[in-house]
Amino acid sequence: MERRGVHVMFNGQRNLAALERLIGEIMPSLGMNWIIVEVNGHYQYASHPEVSEPDGIGKKEARRLAKMARDNGVNLVPMYNCLGHQSWKDKPAALLRSHPEFNEAPDVDATAKEFYCMSWCPNHPEVNPIVLDLFDELLEGFEAKAFHVGMDEVFIIGHCPRCKGTANHELFAKAVNDYHGHLAGGRGVEMMMWGDRLLDAKTMGYGLWESSENDTHQAIDKIPADIVMCDWHYEIMEEFPSVRFFQEKGFRVWPGGWNKEKSIRRFIEVARRDATDKMLGYLATTWTDMNGVVAGLAGEPTDPENERIADVVKGVQLGAELAQD
Ligand SMILES: [Zn+2]
Repeated sequence: MERRGVHVMFNGQRNLAALERLIGEIMPSLGMNWIIVEVNGHYQYASHPEVSEPDGIGKKEARRLAKMARDNGVNLVPMYNCLGHQSWKDKPAALLRSHPEFNEAPDVDATAKEFYCMSWCPNHPEVNPIVLDLFDELLEGFEAKAFHVGMDEVFIIGHCPRCKGTANHELFAKAVNDYHGHLAGGRGVEMMMWGDRLLDAKTMGYGLWESSENDTHQAIDKIPADIVMCDWHYEIMEEFPSVRFFQEKGFRVWPGGWNKEKSIRRFIEVARRDATDKMLGYLATTWTDMNGVVAGLAGEPTDPENERIADVVKGVQLGAELAQD
């Protein structure tokens, strides 16, 4: 497979040494050649310092990582998760902490048990001027040729007075097109996103995390087909129809799995079976502490309190192995 990748959550300075080790030692040893680094607020943004978390790395460190990636044949893609995932429960990340006016649903009780993550409002006139500057800083800092905008699991949408009355798929498509216009149109870089909001739960057979139950899926016919769709699925299933679906819609698809061996094996089989020239490879996701994952990949003991790490480590190793040509 052409792209043998890994996605990691980057929490700033505390993960810097692990990220360097991952790019400089571990990925080359596993034959992996793409890394998506989810940076979000963990960068010292010069254009809008207020949206930076206190532990962010600076341009100097980003440039060092970029050079290390180049020297090791790794494509480094920075990511800023857009629209959804702007908080964990009632704890907003730096963007909504510093700009609470962007919150799509300030009246929804974020302390409620079933509450997941806050969203920003795609129609707030001040939000894009800020986040597009952040995209530019990450592209420049990491000297990147591709950018990942996230956009997974957006459950709060169409709620505020600006958005109410517009269909969710229109709102979602507008956000995608705004980011695409800047990234692909303005900067000439490849745009990637998670694909789950573009899959119809009713026809795809996936659940409400891996596909959409709130009508965002119709946006798929309103967005440019040069976006790379990172098609993540983690459950054990016989079929993964989205791999074929995205390619039929004209998109390049990059299937991504997680921590269940059976799911990873079958997903990669299906991806190979249904591959056209638009099927890019396999993307291993991690979703836990990067320092622990990197230690585990290096064969060192991992935190026994974090049961997730051992399976994630195995998942990354298995994905890397099965994605080799
Ligand atoms: Zn809104």
